[in-house]
Order: sequence, then structure tokens, then C-alpha cells
Amino acid sequence: MTSEGTHLDPENWDDFSHDMHQLMDQCLARMKQARDLPWQPMPSDLADRLSLHDSTTGAGSAQSLDQLAKDIMPYATGNTHPKFFGWVHGAGLPVSVGAELVAATMNSNCGGRDHGAIEVERATLDWLLGVSGMPKTASAILTTGTSQATILALTAARNRQFGHDVRKTGIQSLPKIAVYVRRGTHSCIGKALEVMGYGTDAIHVVDTDENMRMDIASLAVAVAEDQAAGRVPLAVIGTAGSVNTGSFDKLNAVADFCAEQDIWFHVDAAFGFWAKLAEHPWKQLTDGMERANSISCDFHKWMSVPYDCGACMIYDRTLHFDTFTSRPNYLEQQEEGLGGGDLWFCDYGLELSRGFRALKVWTAIKAIGTKAFSASITDNCKQTSLMADLVQASDVLELSFPVSSNVCCFYVTHGDVNEIAAELQISGEAVFSTTFIKGRPCLRAALVNHRTTSDNIRQSIIAVEKAVKRRK
Ligand SMILES: *Cc1c(COP(=O)(O)O)cnc(C)c1O
Repeated sequence: MTSEGTHLDPENWDDFSHDMHQLMDQCLARMKQARDLPWQPMPSDLADRLSLHDSTTGAGSAQSLDQLAKDIMPYATGNTHPKFFGWVHGAGLPVSVGAELVAATMNSNCGGRDHGAIEVERATLDWLLGVSGMPKTASAILTTGTSQATILALTAARNRQFGHDVRKTGIQSLPKIAVYVRRGTHSCIGKALEVMGYGTDAIHVVDTDENMRMDIASLAVAVAEDQAAGRVPLAVIGTAGSVNTGSFDKLNAVADFCAEQDIWFHVDAAFGFWAKLAEHPWKQLTDGMERANSISCDFHKWMSVPYDCGACMIYDRTLHFDTFTSRPNYLEQQEEGLGGGDLWFCDYGLELSRGFRALKVWTAIKAIGTKAFSASITDNCKQTSLMADLVQASDVLELSFPVSSNVCCFYVTHGDVNEIAAELQISGEAVFSTTFIKGRPCLRAALVNHRTTSDNIRQSIIAVEKAVKRRK
């Protein structure tokens, strides 16, 4: 031990500052060139280059920061590129580089206590709840994503149903439950039920109507069946933007049914929530969402905030608090000082220690504003319609269903869709993912990227057509 103690800070701050500035320039250059940098396969020796086996003595910040730029940054997922349409991946924002820098500098723990980062999350969630249209009694918390938000929401539903004693007694002596989803609901619902101890057997899949929305008559039959069998209907899951088709359930109709039957209404709005910011007619797809007992959504998809950040909204702040608060004496609230503050997020979710996710969200909204988000989200919907038109005009492609929001799927006349998708990914021409619609394999595009242009759509469809024709 030296007289200064064994700290881990740089030995030479001038050198460190120089290296950091250089890295920042490389980061910004990459973001500026995002349109020319598609996903690329990793070099075969990358795993070796990244190995930490020989790390007894540190390599030093200069060499490590240099390696970040050279060995790691180029091999990203590729979702910053405007012709990345696979899965549902947000595109990122240059301004977030600044937010992440400040968040790392502050190193705030957002589980609780009285400090500025909490106020940033409070302001962010106030804004979010305002967009949601939920009642003033609602509360929210930022999560890693929709998967985690779903666990929070269904846990609150369980506690409303059975009382907060379930926190102590567990579910073992409680009646069996059922959760209603429509065909095509995301797998995060099943995962939430697994970790809650109910298992996926608790899921009751309800048929969809001709527009791939939950069929309310089938829902009513399913609920009646379960009730007759002694199962408690715990929650109905409405989907706002389904992964495969981008379809939105008739949320008002589901809300009416749930209100009538007194069943918890949860909306999985991972990406579809943000249609709220779009123009007519897409905004209207979200009508009725505000009547939900809980909503989950992601900032890292259509809001372009870098990974990861989602949110859980619950209609009743007291229920939300009572479901998760747990304060041993070392976490007791103080009147004054750092131990004060009226909003401790550890009372509203699973985590005690929490990062400063709110800052990148707050910065995105502050810097860009809802008007610009609205324009880019609306553009994506229009571009999806354009893609559908091009598919319909093509003699080697066939639309899988009429487009309703930002997801377009299509079949090909020749060749294997997985091979075609891989070929276009490797060539850097476009990233489509694949799925099955009506039992047939197809290419799938979900448009959530503010960098995408109509020309990008035209180029990508031409690239697919060429790949199909090569297989004729
Ligand atoms: C992405 C997605 C999820 C899961 O969200 P994560 O943020 O990846 O946990 C759930 N539902 C839908 C509809 C999605 O698109």
C-alpha cells in the first residue's frame, strides 16, 4: 500500500484524456458513417483476441481503449444500418453517446435515495405516463426491457387477485390460474409465468380473427371454460404490435371484456406503444391502451435509445408499491440527507441496485423532441406500406398478409428463405429475418429505424428479387 492508497484511477490524466478524446472521435465517426456500415461477420480469431485469460497485469487504458475501437466496435449487431429490418432492433442515436458518458461518470445507483438521477427518471416516467394516457393514479419504472416489465406487471396482477399475503405464502396453496394470449403473442409472457412458478401450462391461447387480432368471442368461451374448471382468470394479454405481423388487438374491445369480467388487462406494447406518437391512421391503432391495468414497452426499439431500456406501467401506484416494496432497516427512509427522497425505485421492481438508464431516455426526448420522433415513426409505417406495394408488384414475391403497421412479411417463389436472408446479410445488402406465416416460411421486415429511406426499401426489395431469380 502506498501513502495514497491503491486506487484504480489513471496514473497520467493527460494521457488518459488524449486517449479518450481519440476514442470519442472514433465513436462519432462510426455513428456518422452508420449508413455505410452494415453487419459484417466476425473474424475467426476474434474470440482469441478478446480472451481475458492473461489479465493478471492490466494492459493499460491506452491499449484497451484502442482495442475497443479496433476489435469490438466494428462487429456490432448492425442495427445502426438503415437496411437492417430483422427482428425488432432499434437504430440508436448519436446524442446517446453523450448521455452514456455522463451516466458512467456519475455512476449513480438509481435504486433509491435523494439525488438528481432519481429526478431524471421521475421526469422521464412522468413523460411516459403522459404519452400512455393512463390515469393520474398510475406509476411506472424503467426496466431492462419488455421481458422484465412483463414479470413486474403479472406479479402485480397476481397480488391484486390474491392479496399481498401471497408475498409470504407463495402460490402453492392458491387456485390454478389462466392467462389469455392470442396466437402470435411474444414468448416473454410464457417466460414470466415460468419464473413466477405458474409454468406455461397456465397459458390459454385464444383464436384470432381474420385480421390477426384477438377474437373476443373466443376469449369469452376460453374464460368461461376455465372458470367452470375452477381456474382463476388472472390476466388477458393484449398485443399492440405483434412480432410476426405488427397487428394490434382491438384494445377497447379487450378492455371492455376485462372490465366486465374484472380481469387484469395487460398490453404488450414492446414496439407498438410508440405508434401513439405516429400520425393518423397508425396512432389510432393504440386506442384503448390507456385503459389497461399494465403496459410494457421498450425504449430500445422504436425510440432508438441504445440497449437496454424498457418500461412497466401499472394503473395503481399503491398496488405497484405494495407488490415490490421490501425495506430492511439498513434501507429505512430518512427525513433528510441522501437517505431521504420520496421515490425509491427499489420499491417498484426487482432490482435494488439500478443503473442510470433514465439518462439516455431523457436525453433522447429532450434533444430530439416528440415531433421528430413522430415523423420518423410515421415514415417507418409509410415505408412498410411501400415495401408491401413493391412486393405485390413483384412476380417472384408474394405478400403474406396486408400490412397494418410497421411489419411486412412475404413469400418467395424460388429458393429457401433462410438461405436468401443469410446471403443478403453476408453481402451487406439488407438484413431481413425469417418466420412462418400461415405455416409457410417467409422473409420478414420490421421497420423501426429512423435512418431508413424509401430508396433503402426499393434497393432492398430489388436485392431480394435478384436473389430469388438466381434460384429459378
Ligand atoms: C421485443 C419484444 C418483446 C420482448 O422485449 P425485450 O425488450 O426484448 O425483453 C416482447 N413483446 C414484443 C411484441 C416484442 O417485440
